[in-house]
Amino acid sequence: MKRLVVLGGGESGVGTALLGKEKGYHVFVSDKGKIKEKYKEVLIHNEIEWEEETHTEAKILNANIIMKSPGIPSKIGLVQRLVAANIPVISEIEFASKFTDATIVGITGSNGKTTTATLTHHLLKGDLNVGLAGNIGDSFAKQVLERGYKNYVLEISSFQLDDCYSFKPHIAIITNITPDHLDRYDYKFDNYISSKFRIAMNQTKDDYLIYDGDDEVIVNHLNNNPVQSTLLPFSLEKTIENGAYLDKENIKITIDNDQIIMPTTTLSLEGKHNIKNAMAASTVAHLLRIRKQTIRESLENFQGVEHRLEEVLKINKVQYINDSKATNVNATYYALESMDAPTVWIVGGEDKGNDYQELFQFVNEKVKAIICLGVDNEKLLKTFGGMVDIIIETQFMSEAVKIAYKVAEAGDNVLLSPACASFDLFQNYEDRGRQFKNAVRNL
Ligand code: ADP
Repeated sequence: MKRLVVLGGGESGVGTALLGKEKGYHVFVSDKGKIKEKYKEVLIHNEIEWEEETHTEAKILNANIIMKSPGIPSKIGLVQRLVAANIPVISEIEFASKFTDATIVGITGSNGKTTTATLTHHLLKGDLNVGLAGNIGDSFAKQVLERGYKNYVLEISSFQLDDCYSFKPHIAIITNITPDHLDRYDYKFDNYISSKFRIAMNQTKDDYLIYDGDDEVIVNHLNNNPVQSTLLPFSLEKTIENGAYLDKENIKITIDNDQIIMPTTTLSLEGKHNIKNAMAASTVAHLLRIRKQTIRESLENFQGVEHRLEEVLKINKVQYINDSKATNVNATYYALESMDAPTVWIVGGEDKGNDYQELFQFVNEKVKAIICLGVDNEKLLKTFGGMVDIIIETQFMSEAVKIAYKVAEAGDNVLLSPACASFDLFQNYEDRGRQFKNAVRNL
């Protein structure tokens, strides 16, 4: 019996373990940390061997194949020893893809993955048997085992792609590439870019790569490292013959001379970045022959995704917006860009080496007050101190929201878009977003 060792007992690890067991592997799950109760119960119920708070190397080095969870860096000693021992180390996406013939839409990029994946799924689900999995919730492996969909929309991080070798989505999307997670890439942006492009590495001309044709990083990389895939760029700035572009207030998508036109005025999502996300998702839908009217209607009635420019409440004619998922400067750039009223901006958290310069114009034009919400607010105070009349710091969400309430006047927005990770004061970005919404509801 072949031995599959799963490193990491989270969503992707447990999904892989279940699928591996079903496919006849002897499975052993090993987690250096604590495994969540709900996952332990599944492992016990399915009689899968596991350990936590340790890695028993003798057992792990005995494997025929290793599935490494995306949170575990390749640099650690154990993984290095596995590689030296010639044991294949793969990701959950790679493993699960071996057990399905479904049509796969794989979505990666620095920002917009979840929004684009959710929207793509929304556009397809009326007409196709389609699952939504990957980074976004359910593991791909679990859905392959339990659901057996004919199509999958997968949100895929660069960490997942790093351990893919034969994975080949029929349709790939790269939403955009800006520096992120560089600590896992030897602080070399090129390594991170290459990682994202692994999504297309096995594609042929019968497969499609949809990407932001205005993103210089992507375009330059493609010029220097051509791929086999049929290219379908999207653009806000120029006419695109094969792909998607913005013509005044309409999105036009052409594939093999078949064009679909969609008004942006009726899009449910706000902001230029969401026009891009809508272009990418609709290109997939058009490729998979979803009816044009269905695509238009679905774009209108899409509800959006929690913590992404989510409109919470209007109180005294002030709109409160939760963009807690903006954990980097680029995401906040698009949030501020989409503000159509004077804005009280709640920002801060764990700084990832942020360069705030690209926000200066919007801060000057739109931001009337800044509330810094982090353990260390020095950099924010220094950077933006001279730019706005009111800049205040706090370490409590409830206080941040109360200050915003006092400062904001009818017609203003209050925007939580931190541009930073949340771990200094919150469990994660969801916790931060929920605390914001609760504080707003308690006003
Ligand atoms: P990801 O899954 O890649 O983190 P999300 O869809 O969760 O992306 O969005 C993360 C943050 O980025 C949110 O603040 C959202 O408003 C913003 N965002 C969404 N789409 C884009 C885009 N195309 N470009 C830049 N920022 C975006």
